[in-house]
Parts: sequence; C-alpha cells; structure tokens
Amino acid sequence: MLRFISLASGSSGNCYFFTNDKVSFLVDAGVGVRTCDKRLAEHGLSLKQVDFILVTHDHIDHIKALGVIASKYSKPVYATSKLLRALLKNACTRNRLNSSLHGIEVGVSATICGVEVSPFAVCHDATQTVGYKLVVSGRTIVILTDCGQITAKVLENVSQADILLLESNYDSEMLQNGLYPKILQDRISGGNGHLSNNQAAEILMKTYPNRIGRMKHIYLCHISANNNTPKLALDSARGALIACGANVDNIILTALPRGRASALYSL
Ligand SMILES: [Zn+2]
Ligand SMILES: [Zn+2]
Repeated sequence: MLRFISLASGSSGNCYFFTNDKVSFLVDAGVGVRTCDKRLAEHGLSLKQVDFILVTHDHIDHIKALGVIASKYSKPVYATSKLLRALLKNACTRNRLNSSLHGIEVGVSATICGVEVSPFAVCHDATQTVGYKLVVSGRTIVILTDCGQITAKVLENVSQADILLLESNYDSEMLQNGLYPKILQDRISGGNGHLSNNQAAEILMKTYPNRIGRMKHIYLCHISANNNTPKLALDSARGALIACGANVDNIILTALPRGRASALYSL
C-alpha cells in the first residue's frame, strides 16, 4: 500500500515522506533529523528505511537538514545537475553529501528504486526549481511547491496526477493588506514567487476536468502563516473543484499543517 506523510509544510520547513512495501523516499529535507525521526516513529516509520531523497530547490526551508540526513544515514540525493552544483557550495549541504549525489534532468525521466521520476521546470527564485511527476505503485503523484507562475509544463504535469501536492501559499488580499514590506509582497506574488489560492484554484480548474474520478487526493502545501489560513486555501480549492463538476465528497482535499506532521495517508 502506498502511504504518505508530510513532516512539515511551509516557509519554516518542508519534508514529504512516501512509502510502499518496496521503496521509501523523501521529497525535500527541510526538517531537522531528530524531528523527522520522532514524527515518523509515531507511525512505526524511520528515516533509516528511506531509499533516496529528491530535492525541489535550494531554499533553506527545503534543504536545511539535507546534509545531515544524507550523511548520517548514507542516503543518495537526487537533484538536477545545476542544483547539485549549488548544493555542494551551500552551507547546509557543503562537505556533507560526499559521493551520494545523482544528477537528474528537467524533462528526462529516470527510474530510481522502481519509482519513475520526472522533474519539470518551475518558475521560482532559487538556483533551479523543479516539480516532480512520480509514478509508483501504478499511481501518479505530482508535487508542485514554490511556484511563481502557471506554465504549460505545470498544467501538463498536474493534469496527469492521481495524487497532487499543490502549493496554495497566500491569499491575495491578506498579502496586500498585511504587514510585509512592498518589496517582499512583490517577491511572493511575482512570477518567480509563490502560488496564491486563486492560482492554485486556476490550476485545478484547468486540470481537474481531465482527471475526474482519478485525481482523488489533493494536498494543499506551503500555506503561509501570515498571508493565508488553511480555511481560505481549502475554500478556494473546493470552490474550484465544485465549479468543474467534481464530487468533492469523493476527494481527499486537505491543507497540510506547517510546523507539525500531517496524518499518515493511505493513497
Ligand atoms: Zn519553500
Ligand atoms: Zn522556495
């Protein structure tokens, strides 16, 4: 059985754990090693069982613990070659990744421990940012976090998802009327920033009609503590799904918590 737990999601740390009977992997490692182990142990899981780690980009909330986890448990790390070069210089990962680095490329699928991994380009202000389309246990998981604009590639990948992790970072009004300085507001809402609730809704409106009856799990991620609420994000996504004819009772639609683990979901 394919299972998923978010160990944290948001600007203070991101780490997603997937497992089936044969393979376990992390997407990003922005949560400390002890916290990861504690949150996994509550479900009888462990970082020791992780076969590999995928990285979306080199912002600290996604790689803070990558060096420690990869070196402590000797886990292979997969990221684009450009991102790997940056990780070798980054203070979080420098001198810690040693020989366990594997380059993968945007637009090229690779099979890693039986998981088909396809990175796709995402606009965001890191060295390089990717989303992932993953095929495991016959299911397609799409991870789209830290994304500044809706591109054809984004829609092409999301429209194949059975299971979707979708950024829903900010509510536009809360951001505009909040305390963030204008320069930071512009960075977040710019084309290399983050997806708003409205943009996440637009992605669902444009992709869900292709996935009726297939896209059954939608996890809203990277929700801002200051410029959003889980309720606003969920209401927006739910509204989009209803507008395109979805029976929302048949969809797991959840906002992933920021500073704690989610439930353990069977996918
Ligand atoms: Zn982030
Ligand atoms: Zn980022």
